[in-house]
Amino acid sequence: MFELLKLTVREKKWVTLALLSTLGVAFFTAVMMNLVQPVIDEMFGANPSASAAAADGAAATKVRALDFLWNLLGIDRGDIKSALPLVLIIVIFGKGLFTFLSSFFMKAVGNKVVKQMRDKLYAHILGMSSGFFDRATTGDLMSRLTNDVDRIQQAVGTAMSDMVEESFVLAGLLLTLLINDWQMALVAFVIAPLAAIPMAAFSRQLKKQGRKSQLKMADIYNLIHETVTGNRIVKAFTMEGFELRKFLKSSWRYYRINLKLAWISSLSSPFMEFIGGLVGAFILVVGADRIAKNQISPGDFGVFVSTIFYMFTPIKRLSRANNVVQQAVACYDRVQEVLNTPQEIEDRPEAYPLPPVQGRVKFDRVGFAYLTDRPVLFDVSFETKPRETIALVGLSGAGKTTIVNLIGRFYEATSGTITIDGNNVRDVTLASLRSQIGLVTQEIVLFNDTVRANIAYGLDDVPLEKIIASATAAECHEFISELPQGYDTLIGERGGILSVGQRQRLALARALLKDPPILILDEATSALDSESERLIQQALTRIMKDRTTFVIAHRLSTIRNADAILVIDGGRIVESGTHEELIRKPRGIYRKLHDLQFPEEENGG
Ligand code: ADP
Ligand code: MG
Repeated sequence: MFELLKLTVREKKWVTLALLSTLGVAFFTAVMMNLVQPVIDEMFGANPSASAAAADGAAATKVRALDFLWNLLGIDRGDIKSALPLVLIIVIFGKGLFTFLSSFFMKAVGNKVVKQMRDKLYAHILGMSSGFFDRATTGDLMSRLTNDVDRIQQAVGTAMSDMVEESFVLAGLLLTLLINDWQMALVAFVIAPLAAIPMAAFSRQLKKQGRKSQLKMADIYNLIHETVTGNRIVKAFTMEGFELRKFLKSSWRYYRINLKLAWISSLSSPFMEFIGGLVGAFILVVGADRIAKNQISPGDFGVFVSTIFYMFTPIKRLSRANNVVQQAVACYDRVQEVLNTPQEIEDRPEAYPLPPVQGRVKFDRVGFAYLTDRPVLFDVSFETKPRETIALVGLSGAGKTTIVNLIGRFYEATSGTITIDGNNVRDVTLASLRSQIGLVTQEIVLFNDTVRANIAYGLDDVPLEKIIASATAAECHEFISELPQGYDTLIGERGGILSVGQRQRLALARALLKDPPILILDEATSALDSESERLIQQALTRIMKDRTTFVIAHRLSTIRNADAILVIDGGRIVESGTHEELIRKPRGIYRKLHDLQFPEEENGG
């Protein structure tokens, strides 16, 4: 609540304008209520001022709030009656004008505040480390970015302005009551605060349920995301019914919570109104008595009663605004939760840009754990020379991907040091480090854009010739040329129109275009058939000559020519050497893997 207010107040210009307009609304509302007195007393002659001097009661000679208005307009007491219609029009017009202005200015603030928050949130999420994305779910992040932020917008743009505006209006009305008849006003004041107690209970419930509702919404987003991205698997396993039931269950839970929310928020207004009615009834009794004793005029009482009843509107709006704000506070907390999550892997304050490297990668006793108490790498040490090819071999889950992920600092090594050409990867800027690493993974990420833009991802103004050159090197040019619009063909989200092998080759072309001194191929050819792999292999051999390349592949044929092979098992390097050296170890893991893949070959070379 307080933080939301702070954010809003930062938009000084708009907020000031909104506040001024709000004061205008309050002023005109108060004047409008006070007009009831002359309408009753002068127009209906309930207590004509002409005979005021003759009357002996206090009511006739009373100083009234509107006196200043008549003086200002130079209207004599006797002319009030004829001036009233015009004054009424002016007052209503003034009230309308300021209502429009205050509403517009506050909505403008709401939109601005929320835009900033959404932008900041997205930027923060983008900057999060890989570890964060391992834990986060898409649906949850989506719901925070859209749903939560929208509710905050509602709160800032509408509810908060209502709160400010209605508070001022209420203050104006209270002032009217006090000036009109302070004794009765005091009586009303004593009773009214009792209403605050149920209001607090309502808002507490709303906040709690609002938070629950957002969590359920995130579940729904998650389910949608999962089934949309995995629709093929869902279909293949004919799990539509299962997924639908899962969805219906979540949907039902969301619906239940929202029903509860609807119940509470619908109850709160009539309940508050009822309490208001009690106050009103009490006032009627007291008022009748005071008119009878001629302490107030019928017009005064008219002002009092209509003001009290008119107060319901701001009170009702206040309680409704309070509901919206309470729900928004829950949303705000969820947004802050993300914003307060440290990005973990950031540039150090004294980080310097990594100068162009030759590709001398060195691991020195590197250890790593994704989860604090479950280390997956132990004491990994090796060193490459520039332009060498290093193959990582091992069973799945051995830690190969983890090792190469540490080079680009997608995760931070828990112990030991990693240097590139003598520069500790922790001491250089992330951007300069990653710009010198090309990464092709088994999971291919393509964006909903043209083929050309996908290959040139992350690079500006690349001439088409260069794109075609990399595409040709990665054996993509042929199939791209056959696409309807060639390089300008839009490939759907996740490259839906391409085969997996084609996607993998596109990813390769992307890495090649970057021409990085360090290239990482993490099972980059695993989805290719032997024919494409053979074609790619030739291209790769050429490409790998010019840079330090880390290759992870299951097919040992693709890594035979590596300058060094590291055999990984259980997060440790258990063997290392060239193919010829490793094959000679009779009980080595590499030998065993080799025998499994090439049973017919004579061992030992
Ligand atoms: P490989 O690439 O050799 O198949 P990985 O490096 O992917 O193996 O995984 C090594 C170990 O780390 C495995 O036990 C795996 O379960 C674990 N692991 C991999 N990625 C994560 C992650 N994001 N969070 C937690 N544990 C992980
Ligand atoms: Mg792997």
